[in-house]
Amino acid sequence: MESRRPRIVILGGGFAGAYCARELEGLLGPDEAEVVLLDRNNYFVFYPLLVEAGTGSLEPRHAVVSLRSFVTSTRFLRAEIVAVDTRAREVTYRLANDGQPQQLTCDHLVLALGSVTNLPPIPGLAEHGFEIKSMADAVALRDRAINQLELADAETNGEDRRSSLVHFVVVGGSFTGVEVAGELEVFLRRAAKQFPSLVPSDCRVTLLEREQRILPALGESLSAFAMHKLRQRGIAIRLGEMVERVERDRVVLHGGGELDASTVIWCAGVAPNPLVRDLDAPTDERGYIVCEADMSVQDLDQVWAIGDSAVNRGPDGRAYPATAQHALQQGRQLARNIVRRLHNEPTRGCVIRDKGAIVALGCRTGVAEVFGIRISGFMAWFLFRTVYLLKMPGVGRRLRVALEWTIDLVFPKDPVQLGLTRREVHDKQQRGPTSGWAE
Ligand SMILES: Cc1cc2nc3c(=O)[nH]c(=O)nc-3n(C[C@H](O)[C@H](O)[C@H](O)COP(=O)(O)OP(=O)(O)OC[C@H]3O[C@@H](n4cnc5c(N)ncnc54)[C@H](O)[C@@H]3O)c2cc1C
Repeated sequence: MESRRPRIVILGGGFAGAYCARELEGLLGPDEAEVVLLDRNNYFVFYPLLVEAGTGSLEPRHAVVSLRSFVTSTRFLRAEIVAVDTRAREVTYRLANDGQPQQLTCDHLVLALGSVTNLPPIPGLAEHGFEIKSMADAVALRDRAINQLELADAETNGEDRRSSLVHFVVVGGSFTGVEVAGELEVFLRRAAKQFPSLVPSDCRVTLLEREQRILPALGESLSAFAMHKLRQRGIAIRLGEMVERVERDRVVLHGGGELDASTVIWCAGVAPNPLVRDLDAPTDERGYIVCEADMSVQDLDQVWAIGDSAVNRGPDGRAYPATAQHALQQGRQLARNIVRRLHNEPTRGCVIRDKGAIVALGCRTGVAEVFGIRISGFMAWFLFRTVYLLKMPGVGRRLRVALEWTIDLVFPKDPVQLGLTRREVHDKQQRGPTSGWAE
């Protein structure tokens, strides 16, 4: 039987959607509205710790938050959303990927579908490249690193082959790429000690950035510090370089240069979720949903968009960046606007104060720009861990992560595989419209 309470449907249970649902629970009485949250996973990825999960310094399960424990009175559906009619506010979804398509209509529709990795049509990238956007990606990357160590350890057919097996190329010198390069180097150096025919210096990490500096969102002194620290540890940083082709054992660069590497990790930007690209909703030139100041989608009635999939602007007219920090606050503020609308009160513009950014570089060092203050070295790394530990939902999970980090200082993890390959991740993604891999 159809509920007579207004129904609010939230598509996507990431930072934006999950926090919106939880805020609505706190603001609305059980008889006031029905809140339904849909996501293909019954957890959301705590992205700031995903790189650590993908490079072995954190158990993958500790970098996700269970949606069923995060929300309480919200009805959660683990479902693949396959189509959205924004005019009729009707969602078509499939339970557990292969069920029959089902429809759900609502009074308020919240689009919080996030983004995907931006994967340009570079020859060989779809076939050989890795990305880090989901928990499966993180586990597959860690498994790949261990697999390459195993192969290199057993390799007897010459130094060249061995060298390319344990050469990892990270593309993109922004936050994710820099963290992946830094953490991966630590992981490889530690793990290599367990492989008798390898010495830690056999493992190489190269970071490619097409601009003239890494971490362009931070001040120049912090970029320079990060570059110096990473280079000091043997990470090759090549600026002004672009990838032309990826082969099994080789990366070909624009201008003819070559790198003998078997693993390429693509961290160069995000693109709109494919589902968002197909919506009947106004989008900007990159394909993100354009919203009014109160986060309602332009030209649509009672349809709202938040997080990475939306363009929401602050009072100064500038679009908020695609970060967890902004997605979470948009989710909370949108919940208040929906409640205002239900109570026939005027909605308010979205106002977020940017707190800054922190990047971990591995080896207990980092860089941070917090409330305009620049910090580098151990303090920045410590801040990274403290801030994200405190931000992680759930006391139990916080304790587990803190304990794991502490134990890891003395007893590093064994390099064992969990059994997920890049091909399996890719095949899984092909079943749902989740990937940004170019056709
Ligand atoms: C490796 C990495 C590290 C990052 N580190 C930081 C950091 O340190 N600090 C920071 O502020 N930001 C960080 N970010 C950015 C941050 O994670 C995003 O900006 C934030 O997650 C956006 O929130 P969202 O809710 O819009 O999207 P998401 O958190 O991506 O949530 C979208 C949700 O929609 C679901 N979904 C999508 N399509 C479908 C579908 N068709 N059917 C069903 N469900 C679907 C997904 O499963 C997902 O749960 C990082 C990002 C990455 C990739």
